[in-house]
Amino acid sequence: MLSSLRRYHPRVSFITVSIQVNDPAEVDSALEQARSASALGAQLVEWRVDELAVEEAGHRACRILVQDTPLPCILTCRMVEEGGRFGGDESDRVGLLQSLVEAGAIPKYIDVESAAWRRDRDLRIAIGRLLADEDCGLVLSTHDFEGRPNDLARQLDAMWGEDDASVVKVAWMARSIRDSLEAMEMLDEAAGPMIVLCMGRFGVMSRVLAGKFGGLLTFASNGEDLATAPGQLTIQQLRDVYHFDSISSSTKVFGILGDPVEHSLSPLLHNTACRRSGFDGVLVPMPVIEGWESFKASLVCMLDHPSLELSGLAVTSPHKENLIRFVEEAGGVLTPMAQRCGSANTLVVLPDGSLVADNTDTEGIIGPLRERMSLKDSNVAMLGAGGAARAAAIGLLMEGARVVVFNRSQERARGLVEDVKARMEASASIEYRSGAPRSEDGFDAVLNMTTLGMAGGPDPELSPLEALGGSVDVLGEGMVVFDAVYQPRRTPLIQQARQAGAVTITGDEMFLAQAARQFRTWTGGEAPMDEWKALLES
Ligand code: NAP
Repeated sequence: MLSSLRRYHPRVSFITVSIQVNDPAEVDSALEQARSASALGAQLVEWRVDELAVEEAGHRACRILVQDTPLPCILTCRMVEEGGRFGGDESDRVGLLQSLVEAGAIPKYIDVESAAWRRDRDLRIAIGRLLADEDCGLVLSTHDFEGRPNDLARQLDAMWGEDDASVVKVAWMARSIRDSLEAMEMLDEAAGPMIVLCMGRFGVMSRVLAGKFGGLLTFASNGEDLATAPGQLTIQQLRDVYHFDSISSSTKVFGILGDPVEHSLSPLLHNTACRRSGFDGVLVPMPVIEGWESFKASLVCMLDHPSLELSGLAVTSPHKENLIRFVEEAGGVLTPMAQRCGSANTLVVLPDGSLVADNTDTEGIIGPLRERMSLKDSNVAMLGAGGAARAAAIGLLMEGARVVVFNRSQERARGLVEDVKARMEASASIEYRSGAPRSEDGFDAVLNMTTLGMAGGPDPELSPLEALGGSVDVLGEGMVVFDAVYQPRRTPLIQQARQAGAVTITGDEMFLAQAARQFRTWTGGEAPMDEWKALLES
C-alpha cells in the first residue's frame, strides 16, 4: 500500500486533509473542499462520515465521496464511544461498508478502531470484502481523547499482530510535550507504516514533525474552524509556517519553549529564515507549564531523545531563569550577558551535546531605546520583574540610566533589585517601589516588561499601569514608552501612550532584534530582516 502511495507522490509523510461531512446535502461542497485542499498541497483526504452512515441517503453520499474523491481517500466512521459522532450501532456501520462493496466504491484506506475490529466479527467480514481489492488498506487505530492509554504498549502489540492491518495508528490527548516526544519515538521504532499523533496544544510538534520520524501522514484542516481534532493545524500553517514538505530525517529541530507559546511568531520568522538561507531546520512550539520541575523534565526528555536532534531553543516566559539553572547544573556555558542577566532566552545545543545559554533580550531592548533617547542619567520606570525586566535593567544600568522597578509581587521586585545590584558596579542606581509610577516622579521612559496586554496572556485588555493601580496621567508628550509585548503591536499601553503624545516603541522591534541574534547563534547565518518586517506587518 505504501509503495502505491509513493508512486502517487514521492514523499514519505502525506498532508491529509480531514473533512467532516454532516449531511448528504454537503457532498458537493465537501468534494469542492477536497479539491481546494489538493490545490493547497494536501495529498490525501480523510472523509469523516460519522454523521452520514445510518440512512440510505447517507450511504449514497458516502459512495459518491469515495467514487468522486479528487484525492486518494481514507474513510472514517467513528462511533460516539470512539470519540466520533456516529450514533448508530455496529450493524449500521457494517451496512454502510456492505453498500460500498456492492457499488465498487473502494477507498484507499478504511480506518477502524482496533477495539471494534477485535470485538465484531461482522465488521471484520465487511472490511475483509473491501480489502479483497488490493488497492484498499486497513488503518487499525486507537484513540484516547483524555490522555495516554495506560495499556498503550499492549494495544500496539495487538495491532502490529493483525495481519490485515496496512497501517497502525495511535492518537491521544497530550498532557505535556513529553507525550509528543514519546509519539515520535514510537514512529522511530515502528515495525511498519504508522501514524502517531498527539492531540491538543502539547501535540502540535508531533503533527509538524511527523515527516522527520517517518509517520505515514499528518492530518490538517482546510481552515481554522474546520479542524476535526484538537490541535490540528491548517494546511496553510503546515506548509507556509513549518514548510512541512522540506522536513526530513536530517532536519534539525528547534523550539519556542514557554507558556503560552501558541501565539508566538517565532516559528514563522525562524522557519522563513531557515528556508531563505537553505538551512535544514524547523522551529516548533513547545508549551511547557510553569515550574522548574516541568521545565527540567521536558528538557531532559528532549536532550535524551534518541532521534529528536534538538539543536536549540528560544525560551520565553516563564522559564528564562530556569534555563540558566538548567545549563549551570548540566555543566554548560553561560555567555557573559546571560551570566550578568541571570536569565536566558536562547539555548544552543552544540553537536557534541554541550549546552550554551545566551540572553539576546538586552540587545533587543537597548538598541531601539538608544535610537530614541539618551539613556545616560535618564530616569526609567520599569513595570515587571521577570526575565525580560532583568535583561532590561542590566542593559539600562550598563548605559548609565537610573531604574525604578514596579511589580505586582513586591517580593519578586525586591529579589530582582538585590540580584541586579549584586551583578553590577556599586554605582548602579536601581530601586523598587510599590504601586505604579506617578507623574511627579519625572520619568523619561516607561517600559512594560509584564505579560499584560499580550494575546493569550493573563489579561490582553489591561494596561500594566492600571493593573498596578496607577493611571495614564503619568504618560506625557516626549516621554518614551516601550512595550515588550509584540502581539498585538497596539497593546493597551501603546494606545494610551500614543494618545498622550509619547514616543512609542512596540515589542516587534525588540522581537526582531533578539530573534536575529538567535538565528545567527544557531545557524551562523543572517536573518532576512526585510522579509521578517514585512511578515510582521502583514
Ligand atoms: P516573566 O518572567 O513571566 O514575568 C512576567 C511579569 O509579568 C512579572 O513581572 C509578573 O508579575 C507580571 N505579571 C503577570 N501577570 C500579571 C498580572 N495579572 N498583573 C500584574 N503583573 C503581572 O515574563 P518575561 O519573560 O519577563 O516576559 C515579559 C513580557 O515581555 C512578555 O509579555 C513577553 O512576551 C515580553 N517579551 C517580549 C520580547 C520581545 O522580543 N518583544 C522578548 C522577551 C519578552 P509577578 O512577578 O507579580 O508575577
